[in-house]
Amino acid sequence: METFETFTYELDGNLYINLTSKCTNDCTFCVRNEHSTYFGHKLWLSREPSAEEVLARIPENISRYKEYVFCGFGEPTIKLPVLLEIGRELKRRGATVRLNTNGQANMIWKRDVTGELSEAVDKINVSLNEASAEEYVKLCKPAFGEAAFDGLQDFAKKCASRGIDVWFSVVDCIGQGKIDLCRQIASRCGVPLRVRPFIEDSN
Ligand code: SF4
Repeated sequence: METFETFTYELDGNLYINLTSKCTNDCTFCVRNEHSTYFGHKLWLSREPSAEEVLARIPENISRYKEYVFCGFGEPTIKLPVLLEIGRELKRRGATVRLNTNGQANMIWKRDVTGELSEAVDKINVSLNEASAEEYVKLCKPAFGEAAFDGLQDFAKKCASRGIDVWFSVVDCIGQGKIDLCRQIASRCGVPLRVRPFIEDSN
């Protein structure tokens, strides 16, 4: 696989920050399984960036982008210290910061990291993906096994209790029955569910 130093990339008026190509899941639908690019952006990293390298790519005029989003070909919270350093600096400059995550940060770091995250990000999109632990394991093949499904729900609850604007996301192609079950899970966790359309990669 060809690799690149695409530490940041623009999409839909946002600046995306790509910290790692590692992930604790191996989702069957993950775009990185079939492509080295995402909407023309070459996201497989040849190496992981430092906070300084990412901050050097942030524009002077912070309002140039609607949001600064930690999201790439891997799980951003694997690089938590770097994410926190960048996020805190972005917030200090007045940016809106979002994290797209599989919700396994507390399992990865073996402690509750949501307090630290609340200082570095404003919004968190936790991919719920499925309506049960068994189906989640089949679809996402998490390194933590079935425990990952409870773990990501606990993570979302803790984020909400810290005052972070957190929501679960699922794609519409899972069908209405599963969407209803996911809505019940989200409601029990006290966080909203957002249903988004399935997006095919461009190449
Ligand atoms: S959690 Fe995201 S980055 Fe990780 S394998 Fe799944 S889709 Fe890919």
